[in-house]
This record gives sequence, C-alpha cells and structure tokens, in this order.
Amino acid sequence: MAKAWVLLEVLDGKIKRVSWEMVTLAQQTGAQEIVGLLIGQGVQDLTGEASQYGFDKIVLVDHPAVEKYSASSYTAILTELYEKEKPELLFIANTAQGRDFAPRLAQRIGAGQVSDVTAYQGLAAANEGAKEVAATHTEQGPSTEATLAGQGAFIRPIYAGKAFASVRANSFPLVVTVRPNAFTAAAPQEGSEQGKATPVVEVPSLAATEAPVDLSAVIKEVVKHISSRPELTEADIIVSGGRGIKGPENFPLIESLADTLGAAVGASRAAVDAGWRHHDDQVGQTGKTVSPTLYIACGISGAIQHLAGMNSSKVIVAINKDPEANIFKVADYGIVGDLFEVVPLLQAEFEKV
Ligand code: FAD
Repeated sequence: MAKAWVLLEVLDGKIKRVSWEMVTLAQQTGAQEIVGLLIGQGVQDLTGEASQYGFDKIVLVDHPAVEKYSASSYTAILTELYEKEKPELLFIANTAQGRDFAPRLAQRIGAGQVSDVTAYQGLAAANEGAKEVAATHTEQGPSTEATLAGQGAFIRPIYAGKAFASVRANSFPLVVTVRPNAFTAAAPQEGSEQGKATPVVEVPSLAATEAPVDLSAVIKEVVKHISSRPELTEADIIVSGGRGIKGPENFPLIESLADTLGAAVGASRAAVDAGWRHHDDQVGQTGKTVSPTLYIACGISGAIQHLAGMNSSKVIVAINKDPEANIFKVADYGIVGDLFEVVPLLQAEFEKV
C-alpha cells in the first residue's frame, strides 16, 4: 500500500483527537507514506502540533474561503488535491462533518467508501478471506490482486452493532470514515521524527480561491450547547442517564458523578424526548455514536437503538433496578439496584481514588 491521507479535523481552532486515532489506523494498514491534510482559515498555526505525529508531509490549505466548513468547498478542495497525488486511502473522521462530505468526495473521485470503521484486520487474516473473494469475483482482475498484495480488512459494525462486516477494497482509491475513540490515538513525538522536520506544503487551492458553487446555504450557524465537560464523542468516560432518573431535577446526580470522573454526560432518547436533556447529549441510533473507555448507564433499559450508539464502549457499567434489563446483556459490570442509592455510593468511592 502506497499513500494514505489523513484529514485532520479542526474544531474551534483545535485538532480533534480522532485525527491522531486515524494516524494509528493509517499506520496499521502499512501505508508507506502518510500525509496529514489541514484545511481551514488560520490553521497554519496547527502545523507545529501536527508535525509531532510522524507524517511524511503535511498539506495545508489555509484560506478565508474555508473559514467555515461546507461540504461543497471541502469536496472541491479534496478532489483537487486528490487529482495531484492520487493517494490510495483517504481517512476522514466519522463525525457530523465527515459523514456529510465523505460520500460526496468518494463519488467525485470515483472511490469506494467504507464507513464508520472501528478496527482493522491485518493482512494475513484478511488475505484468507480475499482469496475466497477473488475466486468468486474473478472479473475484479488486477484490483483484487492489489487487495491481496497490500491490504487487510476494515471492520465496521452493522445492524446497529449486532454484527461486524469485514470490508476489503476491490479497487482504490478508498475513502474510509473512522469512528472516534475506536483506535488508540498515535502518541506525539517530541520534536521532529528522526531529526528531520515534517515538510509542510502549502497549497493555494484553486477550489478555495474560486468560491465553490454552493447548492446549499447555511441559514443558521452551529447552535452550541456550551459545556465545560468533554465533548461526548471524544470523551474517555461517559455517565449517561435514562428515564430511570425520573426528571431533570435529578440529573445533577449524574453530572456530579461525571465531574468526579472528568466525564461527559450522555442521555437516552427517552430522557431527551422528555426535555430533561439537550439533544446534543443523546446517545444512540438517532443520537451520537460513542466509544469511550468507560460508559456508565444509569436507569437505561438498553433498547437496541441506545445500544447502537454505545456498545463499542470498551467497558460498560450498568445500574438498573430491573435484573432483567437488556442493558445487562452488554454490560461488563452490572449493578442491580436503585440508582439514587448506587450512584452516590459510587461517587464516594471514586472520590477516594
Ligand atoms: P426506559 O426504556 O423506560 O428504561 C428506563 C430504565 O430505568 C428501566 O430499565 C428501569 O428498570 C430503570 N429504572 C427505573 N427507575 C430506576 C431506579 N430508581 N434505579 C435504577 N434503574 C431504574 N433511544 C436512545 O436512547 N437513543 C436513540 O438514539 C434512539 N433512537 C431511536 C430511534 C428510533 C427509530 C426508535 C423507534 C427509537 C429510538 N430510541 C432511541 C428509543 C428507544 O427505543 C428506547 O425507547 C429508549 O432508549 C428508552 O430509554 P430509557 O432506557 O431511558 O427508558
């Protein structure tokens, strides 16, 4: 496998952690060259941080035309950049932004797409499966050989997380969207790698300078739900509350435990629909997909639509007074009890640590 590109996602002037998680995935694929892409206005200042992650090169498009994200401008810029270097793999975060433009980009450059990847299966295991594919899809010809020669398989949850699909490329390029928190973030290296600075190539993108034809218009800026807690999709620990909390007046119980743990606060749709929490906090099929190290579900029954958003969490703790609750089927640790008793006890214990 030759070249992999990683689009570094920037929010509020900071590179999101998922960007470094995509570096790990790019490394796992055995890409010989890994390039970081920075797009936006004022993002030049971020090249110093990006260069600590061992990129072979950083491509920078710093332009007022991309001060704000738009699917059309990102697609136009990335298409233009792609045409110059033709990387085989393009990694994009499976965030609201990535999900918005990645399929459009894939279509524009004639790429296949694998969405919401949570793991990568190495070459040897994937090749076994690829041989079977080659036997049944001989018309794929040389591109299947490329799969056999250089690439493993991308793993993605399907059927709301009830099963996993193992997806190999039959052809390149391939656009891969990557679920936040599924991969360990690459560690920054002090200074530059092996004593040589990462080259930064500034591209005065034609697509950025010529305002792209926008078929859609933003009529309202992002409405932010300000919180001092970590962003849900990036959080390492999440404490979530459901209908079992009984009302918004009891959510401080969850918030207090979350603050003790430095966690984000999540909610089931029942809690959101009841108006107890902002929609930003909703975890699940129609909310956010999260993969924290620790997910504590309090008073949540574990409906399939909720599990779809959190069952790739590394460790799941469930507190529910109903021993038959579905959430216990996915929980690593289950506490059968009244959350109004259990949560303060847990908090008191965590405060001792
Ligand atoms: P309930 O199912 O009512 O469960 C409450 C739980 O709290 C029960 O298990 C109960 O035993 C427990 N409990 C009560 N009191 C206590 C106590 N004192 N101590 C401990 N435990 C207690 N849901 C989502 O969460 N996210 C989604 O994105 C989502 N998308 C959906 C999309 C579609 C198309 C549909 C049809 C549904 C979707 N839902 C979603 C809704 C989902 O089906 C469930 O209705 C919802 O998840 C239930 O929320 P809950 O677990 O908080 O409430």
